[in-house]
Amino acid sequence: MVRELTHFIGGQHVPGVSGNFADVFDPNTGQIQARVPLADRSEMESAIANAEKAQLEWGAWNPQRRARVLLKFLELINKDMDPLARLLSSEHGKTVADAKGDIQRGLEVIEFAAGGPHLLKGEYSTGAGTGIDVYSMRQPLGVVAGITPFNFPAMIPLWKIGPALAAGNAFILKPSERDPSVPLRIAELFLEAGLPEGVLNVVNGGKEAVDTLLEDPRVKAIGFVGSTPIAQYIYTQAAAHGKRAQCFGGAKNHMIIMPDADLDLVADALIGAGYGSAGERCMAISVAVPVGEETADALAAKLTERVRSLRVGHSLDEKADYGPLITAEAAARVSDYIQIGVDEGAELLADGRGFSLEGHEGGFFLGPTLFDNVTPDMRIYREEVFGPVLIITRAENYEEALRLPSDHEYGNGVSIYTRDGGAARDFATRVNTGMVGVNVPIPVPIAYHTFGGWKRSGFGDLNQHGPDAFRFYTKTKTVTSRWPSGIKEGASFVIPTMN
Ligand code: NAD
Repeated sequence: MVRELTHFIGGQHVPGVSGNFADVFDPNTGQIQARVPLADRSEMESAIANAEKAQLEWGAWNPQRRARVLLKFLELINKDMDPLARLLSSEHGKTVADAKGDIQRGLEVIEFAAGGPHLLKGEYSTGAGTGIDVYSMRQPLGVVAGITPFNFPAMIPLWKIGPALAAGNAFILKPSERDPSVPLRIAELFLEAGLPEGVLNVVNGGKEAVDTLLEDPRVKAIGFVGSTPIAQYIYTQAAAHGKRAQCFGGAKNHMIIMPDADLDLVADALIGAGYGSAGERCMAISVAVPVGEETADALAAKLTERVRSLRVGHSLDEKADYGPLITAEAAARVSDYIQIGVDEGAELLADGRGFSLEGHEGGFFLGPTLFDNVTPDMRIYREEVFGPVLIITRAENYEEALRLPSDHEYGNGVSIYTRDGGAARDFATRVNTGMVGVNVPIPVPIAYHTFGGWKRSGFGDLNQHGPDAFRFYTKTKTVTSRWPSGIKEGASFVIPTMN
């Protein structure tokens, strides 16, 4: 039976009225399991109006009281973890264990945001002039919005919702139309946790819904995560409409393997980071860069062997290493890239095309693909493939290896495997990339540091979570105050200074 999903506006499930829908698949079977309504301008405007009204009350609550709602939400969602992870897995196709990780990494930011009162404190300077004190306060922006991708349907919405709400804003989430059920459940749980109606709204939709958020003057900030062309579009449009924006885009994450690295450790790390979640992670490692021919030959042999034993399966199969891709189009796009790699002259060590899971022949599965001898001019090196495809690009020496991620148009994450502390330190300092792992394959920073890529992986100057999130979702007001005690200066026509 095909379920009909709703929006969540003003604390209620609201059916779509635009008449436009998108299909939500079960990627394991290829069957349509739900239809999600795509909001038109008027539906989005009604959500914005609701949020604007609700924010007045929420923003006036003291920060500690707001934080308690986040703490209660944590308690409720943790009780709901198993069914929520299965729901996520059934729409996205990642394994249940990985779906729990998706939710958990989001909850870590809610835990962090519950400490928000500390980050909302202002600064104070006493006696800046005679009888003059200067202090600052951080105030909420009002209504803010998040537009999020399919690949982390819990984590990325939670990264945005947590700090935004803790800071006193109302939030409109426009989640991916591919897997919208978990975001809707998150909104229900927040309501149950005591969040006033209308403070968190989930409005499903496509371009019309997004453009309404970008153009409506009541929306003060936009947080986006998704592909680079859309990130750039959102950033440009948001700026043109006078809004604050942080927009995170695509990636091509490299792992540099120095000749002294433990190659078994490296091979395990690459297999997990390259093929986990079918390679549909913005922090997936998609390029392995072994330094020196000997390292490259040994690594290629180890990877080829490990790729053969990978288990691709139904996302609810506990033994599966990874499940299907999100849609048939995504699987076809990745297959096309494999052909492009072959045509460009890369050496195909393992070909994932033609993989079919018995009993689930309609599912959007792809086997693991491994390429060697990929050169930087090839499209499979330059472009984001976003699937279970790992490529090896050989470097003659360390400097050449350092240049590869540094010169790449994307700059999200990068990793180095070595036993040499000096090399690791040099690499971390000089590489032109936003997040660096040293013997860590997926360097997603913990919640109280910030997450953000460089170059065409990120537009805007403040990162996600960590203290940056509170800077993004608040505006600073600075007060200069004097309590006169008999001072009589008369009118002054020059700019006040501290002389
Ligand atoms: P996407 O860009 O297709 O969609 C992201 C969001 O934008 C969705 O909500 C979608 O509905 C909306 N959207 C799509 N087209 C639009 C348009 N023309 N106008 C307005 N809105 C539009 O991305 P996706 O396929 O959902 O996610 C995968 C991409 O996200 C990959 O490129 C991946 O690297 C990237 N990603 C980046 C990060 C990061 O932190 N840098 C994290 C996760 C995913």
